[in-house]
Amino acid sequence: MAIGQVDPEVMVTRGHAPVVTDGGRHLARRTLRTLARCYPEARCELDHATPLQLLIATILSAQSTDARVNRVTPALFAQYPTAADLAAADASAVAALIAPTGLAPTKAGYLIGSAQRLCTDHGGEVPRDLVALTALPGVGRKTANVVLGTAFGVPGITVDTHVGRVARRLGWTVHSDPVRAEADISALLPRRTWTQASHLLIWHGRRRCHARRPACGACPLRQCPSRGLGPTDPVVAGSLVRQQSRR
Ligand code: SF4
Repeated sequence: MAIGQVDPEVMVTRGHAPVVTDGGRHLARRTLRTLARCYPEARCELDHATPLQLLIATILSAQSTDARVNRVTPALFAQYPTAADLAAADASAVAALIAPTGLAPTKAGYLIGSAQRLCTDHGGEVPRDLVALTALPGVGRKTANVVLGTAFGVPGITVDTHVGRVARRLGWTVHSDPVRAEADISALLPRRTWTQASHLLIWHGRRRCHARRPACGACPLRQCPSRGLGPTDPVVAGSLVRQQSRR
């Protein structure tokens, strides 16, 4: 099956709209169970202790790596422990602290703007609501779902580059547009699994199902319709597996 085609075992197409089959739901749940066995530690890799810290770290992770974000956040959180502290911060001082994550002036503006909105509209707390979260500067659906799922236990599919790519390779969606991909993936999986499914797909994308050379020969998803996109030789594929995420 070519990438970008819906796997007929997962969905059938009626007109332009893919329709999820019972077999597709069953297969998707089995895929999740296999990934859960492969990555028992799968979780959000952004270091945080509170919803506010997770919101800040997720805003910083745009166009950056989790590792880089985790390097700058301890100093940032120490200097600005509350939303009120960050709301009153000097933008150039914040930009200097977060510079290694890239786009520092823009992200500093997002952080301070979001903190100000938290203080004026939400009593300095992070709201548990998608609409309220996406109204914050620098916060899109992806960031909001990370915060809702990880900090508050509200199920959500987070479609980042890894989730989108792996889902397309599995034939779960044909869409590159994150909102449409999110709708397809959510239709396949039980709601209660959405947040952990996102973590598992991200971990798989970072460790085996790479953008360029996926480690197909070392991948436990034997039913993947894109198997063979990367090397299937176990030794070659094994050398492509990353034990630790670079992101
Ligand atoms: S078989 Fe290959 S393309 Fe399919 S999920 Fe595994 S690594 Fe990705």
